[in-house]
Amino acid sequence: MGAKRRIREKEQREKRRIAVERIDTLFTLAERVFPYDRELANRYVSIALAVQQKARIRMPRRWKRRYCKKCHSFLVPGVNARVRLRDGHVVIKCLECGYIMRYPYIREKKERRKCSSG
Ligand SMILES: [Zn+2]
Repeated sequence: MGAKRRIREKEQREKRRIAVERIDTLFTLAERVFPYDRELANRYVSIALAVQQKARIRMPRRWKRRYCKKCHSFLVPGVNARVRLRDGHVVIKCLECGYIMRYPYIREKKERRKCSSG
């Protein structure tokens, strides 16, 4: 019985790992096609979101702020998103629909602020 359960847990982990990989690939593709095909980029985002919901995992940190929570557009700071730091928060405004997202500003990143590009 225990062995079976272990196998199931292993399967679950494996499924989640694959889902994360897939999300990663989809966002990378979105980033690549964005300059010449925004609609396609947005489609990659919606597929990634579907994968994420199905696998019930958290959005990988590096992509968490790269899409609009409301209209699901792929966001590129300075192009279709405005990023500001305010009151210890990163404030991202989607310029596609106007939706504003706020994320607490992580302290550990503060030290690297000088060399970051957004
Ligand atoms: Zn939006």
